[in-house]
Amino acid sequence: MNVCVSANVSEKKRVYHKQGCIYERRIKYQNKMQVTEEIAIKNRYRECKYCAGLKGELRAYAHQIDKWKISEHIGTSYDAVTDTLYITTDIGAWKIFMNRKGKYVLFHMNQYSKDMSFYQIKKADYHCQKDVKATDSFEKIMRYIINHDKAKVIIMDDYRKLPRRTKKQKMYYKNAEQKAKRKQKYRVYELFARLERNDPELIKLSMC
Ligand SMILES: [Zn+2]
Repeated sequence: MNVCVSANVSEKKRVYHKQGCIYERRIKYQNKMQVTEEIAIKNRYRECKYCAGLKGELRAYAHQIDKWKISEHIGTSYDAVTDTLYITTDIGAWKIFMNRKGKYVLFHMNQYSKDMSFYQIKKADYHCQKDVKATDSFEKIMRYIINHDKAKVIIMDDYRKLPRRTKKQKMYYKNAEQKAKRKQKYRVYELFARLERNDPELIKLSMC
């Protein structure tokens, strides 16, 4: 992850910030430097208390999150006790927290309905979203959630309407197509099973 530092400060005042932190914006342009977090730490910079961690992401991305709330209908709730962020979309709920290595991991709720309370959302069962690698990019993980549920809404209508431009979009299409085919196969199987149950003679006809 890239962070912002002021190149011209005494050792005591060495602090690094996420981009978008209000304190990052106060660093004079001529002193501002972008470095990796590792380099900042090596040079004895400490993380800013305001923008560090998940709570810090919410502050640094406050503006963007407000935009997503309007354009993508997301809802966010932060639980300070467990340092977990809960995100809801039109059709799903997710949670993000930081693992021991300082990377964000994403979990997806198994059963979600729109009328759930925050308490219910917190207590619900989640599974690890396996196709998302632990990342230090908060934005990446938020965009994943938005795109995932957007695709799901389209699939509920007709998977053939899914866009197929990016690699991820192509993957969603392929998965949806396979699922639809499986469903089709199952329907045919189910039809035969029913025919068989009701009238054993019917199955002979359909096999002709
Ligand atoms: Zn900061």
